[in-house]
Parts: sequence; C-alpha cells; structure tokens
Amino acid sequence: GNAIAQNKELVVATDTAFVPFEFKQGETYTGFDIELWAAIAKQAGLKYRLQPMDFNGIIPGLQTRNIDAALAGITIRDDRKKVIDFSDPYYESGLAILVGSNNNTIKTAKDLAGKTVAVKIGTATVDYLKKNVPEAKLKLFPNIDNAFLELATGRVDAVVHDTPNVQYYAKTGGQGKVKVVGALKSGDYYGIGFPKDSKLVPVVNKALKEIKANGQYDALYEKWFGKAP
Ligand code: GLN
Repeated sequence: GNAIAQNKELVVATDTAFVPFEFKQGETYTGFDIELWAAIAKQAGLKYRLQPMDFNGIIPGLQTRNIDAALAGITIRDDRKKVIDFSDPYYESGLAILVGSNNNTIKTAKDLAGKTVAVKIGTATVDYLKKNVPEAKLKLFPNIDNAFLELATGRVDAVVHDTPNVQYYAKTGGQGKVKVVGALKSGDYYGIGFPKDSKLVPVVNKALKEIKANGQYDALYEKWFGKAP
C-alpha cells in the first residue's frame, strides 16, 4: 500500500531461528539479516518492527500482505518469484549435510538414499531431496534447532539445511557430536522478500547498493562470517 508515502511502521518478518542470520539472544533478535535490515532501513529512512515467525509462514504472509518485507535467508527461486518479489541477491549460499561425528558412510547426496534425514518444512532442501534423492526418508520440523537435536540424540541419520547455518551450528552448538560432510549444492542466493509489486523493492535495492558501496555491508559480512572469499 502506501507504506512508504505515509512512512508508517513496516512489519518485517524474520525466521525464529536460523543462525547466524537471525536468532534470539536474551530478549532480542540478532544476526546478519537483522543487522543488514537495520542498516538498510537507516539508509532509506524506514520505520519498522520485527516479526519473527516460522519460515513456513513467511511466503504466505507476504502473499496476503500481512507482512511488508521478510529476511529469513530466503532462497531466490523461480517458483517463488511467481508469488512474491525479491530484492537483489545479498548472500551466496547452498546446502550441506550434517551427520554424527562417528558416521563414515554418508558423504554425498546419494548416500542419503534409505536414510532418515531431518529437514525444515517449507525450505528449498525439501524440494531438493524429493527431486534428487527420492529414496531418502524425510522427517519434517518447523524449526531447524529441533532437527539438529534429533541428530545429536541419534534419532536421524543426517540433517540437510543451508550451508552457512549448518556450518555455524557445527562450530558453535554441535559440541563435537556432529560434522559437516561437504556441500550438496552451491550457487543459491538469498534475497529479501516482498509482496508482489511492492514499492519498497527499488527503495531497498538502492539502499543495499549504497551500504555495499560505503563498506557497511562488508563490515557486517566479516562480523558474522569472517573475511569474504
Ligand atoms: N534458504 C532456505 C529456503 O529459502 C530456508 C532458510 C531458512 O531456514 N530460514 O528455503
């Protein structure tokens, strides 16, 4: 609607738990997506409030226009472009497999055939595995932290999810019980999601370009992921 013209408070959705892009620290949310949006909003003069929600609800929420924008490591895909708009890409990603540290049998996607794999509902991983490893038995979770817990307690053979999230979890939350066994897929890009034909898209793209040019983007990238490749 007239969100920009009236400078009303935008409702900006994020995922509830997707380290290190968005996660709860004490009472507040932090992470790369959260700080990237804060920088964009400041640059463009936008007022907003964050609304964390299950990933599965985000694209429907944009479609019904209950949300004005969303940052949740959302993979830009053609099927999604039919129902929502995306900003320019802001992060390159992919998918990775996480297994228990003693597992020496699962190394690539094809090794997942016949295995039980924990995945997150509504994500690109679900489509990828259904298409490429239909023999994998998927166990679906709304929240990836529960999928990780399922692996740590030995109730599934593997978790497949976005590479930066899996790597961050293995480093910080895995307590040596899990290991990443290589990339399944690369060359995905994350974009900020909007309702179709939102007037915010060019505004946000302009601000994103500006914070890339003035070094703010690189500083955030380095803070959360280390030096850019
Ligand atoms: N990148 C994944 C997707 O778009 C989801 C990431 C997440 O769990 N927030 O399907």
